[in-house]
Amino acid sequence: MSDNRRVKSATKKPDAILLGAVDVARTALLEEVGEAEVGDHLRAEVEAERLLTHYFASTNRGYVDWNWAVSVTRASRQKTVTVNEIVLLPGADALVSPVWLPWKDRVGKDDLGPGDLVPVAGDDPRLVPGYLVGDEALDEDNARQVREVTRELGFGRERVLSIEGRTDAAERWFAGLNGPDSPIAKAAPAPCGSCGFLVRMSGSLSTLFGVCANESSPSDGQAVTFDHGCGAHSDIRVEPSQHQPATASPVHDTLSWDVFLQDPWAPVKPS
Ligand code: SF4
Repeated sequence: MSDNRRVKSATKKPDAILLGAVDVARTALLEEVGEAEVGDHLRAEVEAERLLTHYFASTNRGYVDWNWAVSVTRASRQKTVTVNEIVLLPGADALVSPVWLPWKDRVGKDDLGPGDLVPVAGDDPRLVPGYLVGDEALDEDNARQVREVTRELGFGRERVLSIEGRTDAAERWFAGLNGPDSPIAKAAPAPCGSCGFLVRMSGSLSTLFGVCANESSPSDGQAVTFDHGCGAHSDIRVEPSQHQPATASPVHDTLSWDVFLQDPWAPVKPS
């Protein structure tokens, strides 16, 4: 066994014949991809009974930290080794494409433009069908909560916000920029709960949130917690005198009405 050969699996005992078949694996690999692409033997991993994979470094400069994986096997009570598969696999530091994301997860709220659609899954836990009221499949506690949600938001919509959806929203809003811990809230002279620009909401979320209706506030049109706040609080008043500093009358007013009425082309009368 060469020094650089290591067996990764600690739970499966490697087949001795397959473990020793490094040359068989390398020969098959060289036939497949050529000598210039193959580096040192790195390790062997047991896949299953009489199935093992030998890994070789790739020397292709376009595939840094990729490894050739050569799977070998043998039949029961046979010593002949068969090469099953040869593939190129990425190592831990290999450059690979990002993990594929579904469209609905890839498009953020800031990406959404006019005409863009972000479908909601049929089983989205944030929503429940309104007709679930009294559903036999629900236990009494869940049915009660669904009835509460449906009563609160009303019928006429195919789906309404679920308890989980409301909880998610409340936690997100509370932890966001319009919550009590944002820098602007901590520096605010008074909380939204005492602000005249706060519009009350209805439903269970109204116990924590209202909507800011002050165009001077960065939270205008958004849900804010009662203990949020900003410098545009309605109790902050500016005395008119602060904007009307007293000024002295001009000694010589060159912009007065009389100066503009003078005809610049009129002949100068001799004095
Ligand atoms: S103006 Fe400021 S303090 Fe008043 S409701 Fe809006 S965010 Fe809250």
